[in-house]
Amino acid sequence: MSIQVLPPEVASQIAAGEVVERPASVVKELVENSLDAGATKITIHVREAGRGLIEVADNGSGIQAGELALTVARHATSKLSTADDLFHIHTLGFRGEALASIGSVSQLTITSRESKSDLGAQLKVNGGEVSEVKPVGSSIGTVVKVANLFYNVPARLKFLKKDITERRHIEQFVTRYALAYPGVRFQLRQDERVTVQTSGNGDRREVIASLYGVELAQQMLEVLAEYDQLTIKGFTSAISHTRSNRQEITFFINGRWVQDAALVTAVVQAYHTYLMVGRYPQSALFLEMPPEMVDVNVHPTKAEVRFREREQIFSGVQRATRRALLAHTPVPGISLNPVGFPESRPNLNSNIQSWASADQTLLQAGLRMESGSAEAGDLGVPLLRLVGQIAAAYLVAEGPDGLYLIDQHAAHERVLFERFMDNKGSSIVSQTLLQPVTVEFSAAEARLIEDQLPTLVELGFRVESFGLNTFLIRAIPQILVGLEPAAALRVLVEDFEEDEAPLQAEQEKKLIARICKRAAVKAGKPLSFSEQEALLSDLEKCQAPRTCPHGRPTMIHLSVDLLERQFGRRGAR
Ligand code: ADP
Ligand code: MG
Repeated sequence: MSIQVLPPEVASQIAAGEVVERPASVVKELVENSLDAGATKITIHVREAGRGLIEVADNGSGIQAGELALTVARHATSKLSTADDLFHIHTLGFRGEALASIGSVSQLTITSRESKSDLGAQLKVNGGEVSEVKPVGSSIGTVVKVANLFYNVPARLKFLKKDITERRHIEQFVTRYALAYPGVRFQLRQDERVTVQTSGNGDRREVIASLYGVELAQQMLEVLAEYDQLTIKGFTSAISHTRSNRQEITFFINGRWVQDAALVTAVVQAYHTYLMVGRYPQSALFLEMPPEMVDVNVHPTKAEVRFREREQIFSGVQRATRRALLAHTPVPGISLNPVGFPESRPNLNSNIQSWASADQTLLQAGLRMESGSAEAGDLGVPLLRLVGQIAAAYLVAEGPDGLYLIDQHAAHERVLFERFMDNKGSSIVSQTLLQPVTVEFSAAEARLIEDQLPTLVELGFRVESFGLNTFLIRAIPQILVGLEPAAALRVLVEDFEEDEAPLQAEQEKKLIARICKRAAVKAGKPLSFSEQEALLSDLEKCQAPRTCPHGRPTMIHLSVDLLERQFGRRGAR
């Protein structure tokens, strides 16, 4: 094939692929343009998860009628003029390619009016074809409407995820920017539902309250530090609030959301010794530094940046976060709390549920397996003779071929999980709360819960929508009685953001596994001999007794052979 210059429409579709990956990227580009135009009010309307419509309206500077056509020309920008400007960038955009790209893969309409003119102007682009600019009546500011995204790039349409995933990406993005710009009034409407709404009064804690709920907003610790040319502001969670992933540790550099694994690590390290392994804080940190200290032009969607003084920035973030934490947290070790946790860890203490009571609730729930179904336990685990418990965490047992150490928590998780799975849909009993409890979630989490409502009912929850991202819990599974209802529901959603819309059956399994993890007896709980025996015999009856539902081992086997070698008996004989 001979080398040829690609026709402009092909070239622009290729370029669009870099900027416009999914509906959320369109929302990002349009919102960034509105912010660059100095808007104080940004209203976003999305239909069909962005496939049908994305409309962003702002009250910013507007665009001169004479320049409207330039907005959709490639490499046309009002934000820089020389290459050197790249290193002093104060705006979010600068490449002048977003609108051109979006116009090449959708039906785009831009309507805009500057404050000094009486009339607005409108321009349409249909799959890259640009219409004449027409005068129209409009209010001051800009409205950009993107209809039928990717209608002319079917391959890209196919790569989009389920609606719920695409909607979540959009919500996450708007949530982040609403947090970064508390002085801007944001509204996101997905189909006819308002899912993100802030007041724009400049109070960031209030923004957190409207995005994540009042309770979290009250708990978040303020971070404020200045090092030389670097200012770090924002919020980070108290040690009582943790998450199972790093996803809610977000950074903004000079008003731009960036992803940077090293900065995330810096925050996590600041919590060293304060959080259990596998638990992470939630933080939103806003770093300000002279623009020349950061290169923002290293990534197609500008989601990553390069720093000149990487080390300083990293240690600044770590110190600032640690300082915020120390200012609000008792030093571990000198706490008088007998369990050994700092006082402000109510989640850990109150969630410990005794083996006996969990088992009792199971009995009440009719979930106990009939004894005598021993054939299920035939694979794997031999009959074991209980010796006892050590470290209030492990059972010691003897088998035909040596010693078995059993992790009581992992084992109980497995037992509960199999009971749940066996009884799904039939006899899972829920416990009605004396007083219904309201819980607030982030927009993205709220969508997840809504999506999972039928499953939650099947698992014994009774949960109703109760206003913007708020739910009313009326009942929880009997097996979770003893847990704070809000915590019980929260633990079910926090991992899902990471999943790319897994299969329903898989999702259900995960929910059940998570419930069991919560309900299972914890390490550190002394068990009576009969409780130990019951656990062991229940484990023997499991289909897959050797691992917990999350795949960790429930038991370690030390064979007689190994013991003999360790004691040097083998060699001696
Ligand atoms: P960039 O943001 O990199 O300059 P874009 O393609 O996103 O490139 O936008 C091109 C130009 O259109 C911008 O430089 C700006 O002058 C103008 N523009 C786009 N959106 C808006 C808006 N909402 N308000 C005012 N001007 C806008
Ligand atoms: Mg732009």
